[in-house]
Amino acid sequence: MRTLAAMKLEHRRVNKMTLKTEPKILRRSLATIIDYGLYLIFFSWLVMTYGRPNDEGGYTLSNDPKGWWIFIVWIIYFPIIESISGQTLGKLLLGLRVVTKNGNPISFVQAFKRHLVDMIDFFFFGIVAIITIKNTPDHQRVGDLWAKTIVIGGDSVICTNCKESLTLTPTEIMSKEFVCPLCRTTVKM
Ligand SMILES: [Zn+2]
Repeated sequence: MRTLAAMKLEHRRVNKMTLKTEPKILRRSLATIIDYGLYLIFFSWLVMTYGRPNDEGGYTLSNDPKGWWIFIVWIIYFPIIESISGQTLGKLLLGLRVVTKNGNPISFVQAFKRHLVDMIDFFFFGIVAIITIKNTPDHQRVGDLWAKTIVIGGDSVICTNCKESLTLTPTEIMSKEFVCPLCRTTVKM
């Protein structure tokens, strides 16, 4: 049987584990602009290099196996790279990382799910993503809600010892503990 003191201790430990993320809308938007900017450069290069001129004055890659590279590169760049490293290039540059709600690495299925709805989230300057990030407790866009993921990096926490507000990197958040630079206390989350 657990004693009341043990239960109280357990309760406090669970509370500490909770991650409190911030919206980070500007940094997340910049990361998305970098990622989809690079993808758009690749897309344009592929279509203009291998496509045939069409009646609308553009280029078309339909009925050409090279068109598959549009999907292959998307799958490699977004779900595969993000599930392996937790970051696309945009997120790496902006100090962001995608993790599960418990702060653990995400799976391929989770990365695939969150990017499958990118078109909904980023439609019309990201209006859907901005609204859901602002109005959900863990600041998730639709893709994050579906995949049960959160975006971390640069979030602030209060040192339990000296009460100083500190900014944590994704690695510090994922290791679930950090050393306060002011009071040198090791704080567990
Ligand atoms: Zn401290």
